[in-house]
Amino acid sequence: MAVISVGSMAFDAIETPFAKIDRIVGGSGTYVAYSASHLTQPIQQISIIGNDFPAEELDELKKRGVQLNGVEMVPDQKSFFWSGKYHLDMNTRDTLVTDLNVLANFNPQVPEEYQGAEYLMLGNVLPKLQLSVIEQLRTRPKLIVLDTMNFWMEVAMEDLKKVLLKVDVLLINDSEARQLSGEYSLVKSAKKILQMGPKFLIIKKGEHGALLFHEGKVFFAPALPLEDVFDPTGAGDAFAGGFIGHISHTDNYSFENMKTAIIVGSAMASFCVEKFGPQRLKEISKKDIDARLEQFVQLVNFDISLV
Ligand code: AMP
Repeated sequence: MAVISVGSMAFDAIETPFAKIDRIVGGSGTYVAYSASHLTQPIQQISIIGNDFPAEELDELKKRGVQLNGVEMVPDQKSFFWSGKYHLDMNTRDTLVTDLNVLANFNPQVPEEYQGAEYLMLGNVLPKLQLSVIEQLRTRPKLIVLDTMNFWMEVAMEDLKKVLLKVDVLLINDSEARQLSGEYSLVKSAKKILQMGPKFLIIKKGEHGALLFHEGKVFFAPALPLEDVFDPTGAGDAFAGGFIGHISHTDNYSFENMKTAIIVGSAMASFCVEKFGPQRLKEISKKDIDARLEQFVQLVNFDISLV
């Protein structure tokens, strides 16, 4: 099954309380592609890069079944640049710089070869662009998943509400769910957000796992307790890649299968945070992923006899 992935391909500068890097490849689309391609192929990437984006990175993606016909290269401009600094808890961060560069004039074009893709992962970019991709697809994908962030809620809420009406699954973190719904309780937030369009809502809670809401039902997936979180950047996107990758691999988008998909997403996120940038996602093998999934099974597996 083919997955179209829309998102930024970027350079990041990252500072954590323990380490710092001035320039590393990142971007929501890059993380989704590296993560999802472990589970399903092809990934049909839609993005924009400048003349500075490394050719070796593009080759690496291609080798993993990531198609790049939908990635526009602007010869005389720079790639999107983002810089963030993490607080001591590694769950919260401040954005220091958002230089849109090529992203400022991004007008995504769906290549003819991508038409008919079964699944669509709308990564974190301007809501108007996410909407444009949905509208260009002649056949509606079986499942449309939307990732977004507080930044777009602040500057493009009206467009975001329009996209919400057209997607099946919304992926956000707990503070974004509160911001979008105006409710503090996540259960009340979920009720409100599920009336805004999506039929499924996934609320990510960093090291505290993720919740899946659908028609009055709720499922919880833990995050793996890790001794060291080195760099949380991209964890949300790695989660999204694992989620859509599993759904596409199994070609099953039922609530039951989504439970497994969010465990797979959590496993991919747990790898992502072990090194700077997408490095760890490049190193791991199927064997590593299987072993980590087994750790998740053990983490939540218990017997109980009701009295
Ligand atoms: P995450 O940690 O999952 O939120 O994703 C971090 C990635 O998102 C970084 O690699 C950034 O390059 C990218 N990013 C940050 N802000 C934006 C934005 N406003 N639009 C698109 N991508 C972004």
